[in-house]
Formats: sequence, C-alpha cells, structure tokens
Amino acid sequence: MAELFAATMSQMREAVLVIDQEMRVVASNPSARSVFIYAEGAPDAQRLTELTRNPSIYAAFLDGLQGKERAGVKVEGYGQDRRVFDLRVVPLRFGERREAYGAIGIFFDITQLERLEGVRQEFLSNVSHELRTPLTAILAFVETLEEGAVDDPLNNRRFLSIIRKNAARMHTLIDDILELSAIEAGNVSVNQTRVPLRAIAADVMTDLKTKADARHVTLRNEVGEQVRVFADERRLEQMLTNLVENAIKFNREGGDVVVSYERDKAGDLIRVADTGDGIPPEHLNRLFERFYRVDRARSREMGGTGLGLAIVKHLALAHNGEITVSSKLGEGSKFTIKLPIQNGVESSRSAKVDKEARQN
Ligand code: ADP
Repeated sequence: MAELFAATMSQMREAVLVIDQEMRVVASNPSARSVFIYAEGAPDAQRLTELTRNPSIYAAFLDGLQGKERAGVKVEGYGQDRRVFDLRVVPLRFGERREAYGAIGIFFDITQLERLEGVRQEFLSNVSHELRTPLTAILAFVETLEEGAVDDPLNNRRFLSIIRKNAARMHTLIDDILELSAIEAGNVSVNQTRVPLRAIAADVMTDLKTKADARHVTLRNEVGEQVRVFADERRLEQMLTNLVENAIKFNREGGDVVVSYERDKAGDLIRVADTGDGIPPEHLNRLFERFYRVDRARSREMGGTGLGLAIVKHLALAHNGEITVSSKLGEGSKFTIKLPIQNGVESSRSAKVDKEARQN
C-alpha cells in the first residue's frame, strides 16, 4: 500500500509538499522538486524557509499549521519558464486524536490557463478598440449632420457615405470575429473530399476581378486542369479568397497575382504569389495572429480587419494542414497552404484546432 502511494505521488503532475509543526519539509514528490529547482534554496532543503523565500507560500503554510485551510494562493514561478501555480494548503491531522501534525500544500500548474486568459483579454481589448474607431467616426458625422450639415447640399451626401462606410466596416469586423470564433470553437464542420482546385481558384478570381481591375492587377490561374486536392470546397474557397484579396490589396499597381499548385512529399501545396512590396522579415512570424498588421493605417484604409490571415490559419489547421509565408522585400510575397494528401478517403469532421494554435 505504501509503495502504491509512493508511486502515485511520484507520478502526480501537481507538486506536493508536506511540512511538520516546525516547518520542516518532511515529504515532497518529484514535481515539487522541479517547482523549486530554480529556488534560492537547495531542492533537498530541510526547512521551508531554505526552500523558498516566497512570502505567500510561507504565509499559506503558516495558516495551514494554525488549522486554517488556504486555497487559491497564486505563486509565480521561478526561472525563465515563469510557471504560475495555484497553491492550496490544508492542515494535516494525524493519529487517533487527530492532532495537528503539520500541513500539506499542493501546487497546481496554471501557467497555460493564465496564458490563455491573457490572450483572451488581449483579444477583447483589440476587438473593443477596433470597433470603437468606426463608431467614433459614425457618431461624429451624425452630430455634424444634426448640427446643420444635413442642409448643406455640398456635404450632406458625402457625410452619409462616410457613415455608411464605417458602419459597413463594423459589420465586416463583427462577421470576421464571429467566423473566427466559430472555427476556433470547433463549430465549423470541414467535409474534406477531392475537389477540383483549378475551378475553385477560377471562381475566386472571378469574384475578385473588379478589385483586381481597379488596381490593374492581373490574376493568373496556373493550376493544372486535372489537379484535385483533399479539402472542404467552401472553406478552401474562403482561404483562397482571403489570400488573393490580400495579394491584390498589397500589390503594386499593374502587378500580378499567381495561384499555383505543386505536389510535395509531405502534401499538396497551394500557392498564392504576388508582386507587391513584400513583408519585412521581422513581421513574418506574427502575421497570422489576430489583428496583426504590418501597417495598421494602410490596412484600415483598404477596409481590412486584420483577421483574414488568422481565419486562413485556423481553416488550414482544421484541414490538418498549415499555412506558411515567404517574402522578399521589393519583390513580393508567397503564401502556401499545405494540405495533407488523402487518396480516395472521404472525411467529415468538426474543426478541432489544437491548443497551441488557438492561442493566436
Ligand atoms: P487585413 O485585413 O489587414 O488584410 P490580414 O489578416 O488579411 O488582415 O493580413 C494581416 C496583415 O498582413 C496585413 O495588414 C498586411 O500588413 C500583411 N499582409 C497580408 N498579405 C499580404 C501580402 N500579400 N503582401 C504584403 N503584406 C501582406
């Protein structure tokens, strides 16, 4: 029985520390030693004070010795990995008379939870900020109209169109936010079948032709007639639309956008390349984060929400694939969707995005 108990303790992810009335450490499990490995004191210290000088840990154990239970004590970890723990301390009573013996503390690792909470708060504050900008413009122009501009034939229509543009912007933003959270929550089903890539790319190009023409950008579909990829047709179309639209927006006047395909050992590669200014290398690894934009003002001016690439990323993950980017300043950027190859197997599942990916 004692052996079983020892084995259980040593396998526990939570750190367990037992102290006696004199604050001597009388038992600890391997997780506890890893928690305190960065502590000032030696990991095999005899006393709690040698193990850590953290006053909140000390105070919680002291309460435990006085018969008080403590929960929710937040302990910031040591070292570079900065782990965060939720410490719970309970008094330990022993023997027939249930005399106070000491206290037992359990450290729950809440690093990941804290990180997610941080991401959530940042997202909320970004959303509020993004919504506030068009709303402020709407309110300002409504006030101007109310204060008399409504009778000013030179400006009243112009003001109305600014109001409409900003309201439309809020609408797009809310649609994108809802779309992104549905994909992330796994509420979007991805029905992967073998679909004709050339036809899908052609549809996307037809839809975006007006935008491309306005900037004299040429759209070229270089996907072979026979190419089939394993994807959800509608979702693939959505990914390509976002990428081609960006390739038009961030292109130079008179530039090109090419959609092409290549089969790689690892999967099907779908590329969207443009001849724009390119993206400075320091931005590349953050590009797929929500609301991340190289040039905020330029993105806004072109009606962007900063969510397009985050949506593409999550859709690619929902296909068990991924999205990557490479770019050369002054020459252009190339976005590549990699999809897994599946021959003849049809699959239908809900979009489950892994935890790591969710955090952006
Ligand atoms: P946006 O709504 O701003 O287009 P996205 O998430 O689609 O948002 O893109 C994020 C940012 O990535 C853009 O604001 C832009 O700075 C950069 N970006 C995306 N695609 C390209 C591209 N083809 N060329 C240059 N920069 C790009």
